[in-house]
Amino acid sequence: MIHTTMWTYPWDVLDEGVDRVLDFLAEEVGLDAISLSTVYHTYDQLRTHLPGKKLFSGYEDAIYFQPQSELYQGTKLKPHVHPMAKGLDPLRIIADACRRRGLELISWTVPLHNHYMARQHPDCALLGAFGDRYPGCLCPANPEVREYVRALSVDLAINHDVQMIEYESLHYMGFGMFRNHAKVGVELGAVGSLLMSLCFCVGCRQRAANRGVDAAELKDQVEKWLLDLFEEGPPVHSVEEFVAAEPLLGEYVQMRADAVTSLAAEVKEAVKIPVSFLYMGNYYNNGIDRKAIEQIVDWVNVLCYSGSPAEASQRAQETLADMADPSMLVCGLNGHRPIASAEQMRDIIAAVYEAGARRFSYYNYGMISRRNLRWIAAAIAAVRTRDAGGVP
Ligand SMILES: [Zn+2]
Repeated sequence: MIHTTMWTYPWDVLDEGVDRVLDFLAEEVGLDAISLSTVYHTYDQLRTHLPGKKLFSGYEDAIYFQPQSELYQGTKLKPHVHPMAKGLDPLRIIADACRRRGLELISWTVPLHNHYMARQHPDCALLGAFGDRYPGCLCPANPEVREYVRALSVDLAINHDVQMIEYESLHYMGFGMFRNHAKVGVELGAVGSLLMSLCFCVGCRQRAANRGVDAAELKDQVEKWLLDLFEEGPPVHSVEEFVAAEPLLGEYVQMRADAVTSLAAEVKEAVKIPVSFLYMGNYYNNGIDRKAIEQIVDWVNVLCYSGSPAEASQRAQETLADMADPSMLVCGLNGHRPIASAEQMRDIIAAVYEAGARRFSYYNYGMISRRNLRWIAAAIAAVRTRDAGGVP
């Protein structure tokens, strides 16, 4: 049995017409669910099939529903509600329309990649080895951040009729999540990226101290490594070799992974509905310990974006090979470029299906053309036929 969803923006649904869009996605594209952005970062979006004007910008990271304020009475961070959600509640309107159609509603939730909150509360942002606050990156070890993410998650789960919460950015954001044009003129390599990604905020230092790890000693060493790397370039060692040779660094990296894993466990415990974790990044830059995360959440989403069926399939196979429970996998598939034909769209999902994936998430309704939406519909129909034992 396969399961299909599509990442979808609430502004596209509202502006094109709730009934029109959801009827199309449910009946013509044949989706089981939509993954609706409810907590989202900034964007400038070209909307090719919206009548009239085509460009839409979200200038601040925001939520797209009306929060239950009591849930945030004790939190330092407060939800920043997008103006479109102040007079009406997009999530409630769309949830009602999904329920009427039997369409599952997934909350696509981006909690920690947030420039607005990191600017409002710099003490909650990642703090690099040189003392820089990283824009757009809330630290998952910060207790105030964790409290906010829990409240936000509970709000979504109990008040908004979503059947699953999918988290994107429930981890360290790494180095380089810039909003402006990035000006980085040195090669960092994998080791430099790891060292620049390390956070030495109060929350991280406290977690390190709890494990008997001297964060101050490590921070001094990281500064030296980085200053040397800026001059001489990255070391020849792989990041795995580098970390294995430095026990203090290895402990700190493990501390970060535990901060992420425990946050996933806390939200899973709090929401009491299925949870999906979107993998972006890796253990060394982002603190994602896949095996530990997969012990906690219900689904994990891996982006298999490619124009090549073989390449998409390879990504799915590599992921599945490391999973204790392969049925947890959701494959993210691109509906946008470089897909250039109906056959290509069909062959990619077929290849990923052959690799063992049964859940698929397409990117993304408002961005792609009507033509590509029709190709997705045909690709889904073909893989359903194959799944039912017929000839696609
Ligand atoms: Zn931190």
